[in-house]
Amino acid sequence: MPDLSRARARMVDVQIARRGVRDPHVLNAMRQVPREAFVEPGFEEFAYEDGPLPIGEGQTISQPYIVALMIEAAEVRPDDRVLEVGAGSGYAAAVMSRIADRVYAIERHPSLGEAAQERFRRLGYDNIELRVGDGTLGWPDAAPFDAILVAAGGPEVPQALKEQLAVGGRLVIPVGAEEGHQTLLKVTRTGQANYEEEDLGGVMFVPLIGEQGWAEDRRRSA
Ligand code: SAM
Repeated sequence: MPDLSRARARMVDVQIARRGVRDPHVLNAMRQVPREAFVEPGFEEFAYEDGPLPIGEGQTISQPYIVALMIEAAEVRPDDRVLEVGAGSGYAAAVMSRIADRVYAIERHPSLGEAAQERFRRLGYDNIELRVGDGTLGWPDAAPFDAILVAAGGPEVPQALKEQLAVGGRLVIPVGAEEGHQTLLKVTRTGQANYEEEDLGGVMFVPLIGEQGWAEDRRRSA
């Protein structure tokens, strides 16, 4: 694989820091993780372009800026236990694994989940656990989580994920009635039964498909 470390450093400066992401944990982590290892073979030279790229199964690796924005919003910190729903290529989970204590990642497509796991193994990222399944139900055995990131857009915030947040925990998720156009929400659990919601702006994500997301036929919520 070509050495793309200069392209990576430039991507972090130009696409991320200059757009206002300031969290040093996020900037450092993004300087470390080789995005070229998370794209499809043949796409390595495009790994540091400012957009999503195809990863198979009709899915994408998210734009680097969106990954940075979501991780900053989720306030991921070194002692945290983090859940990612929609692991896809594994890139965002890999970035969070360079900050947090432990990352749990769920992907519904077995082929993507297996490829992500192989990447983690090759890179020696051994604090990530990945499971193939429906992430709208969370990962009850590993809960509570200090931060939860959802990388696909659902019709509403899954109740299971709210319940699996620690008190003080942050959930960042795209939500919208229309597929492909969502609002990025930050939900903070401020007490046992109390949640605060903040609107972080408009985004476009692939659909969150599952029991507490969209139905597989994509016409109604499950
Ligand atoms: N964070 C990913 C990355 O860095 O490559 C982005 C992945 S893509 C934008 C969203 C992923 O969510 C897709 O791979 C899709 O298969 C997955 N997905 C959709 N619904 C899901 C669900 N209920 N559980 C787990 N994964 C889901």
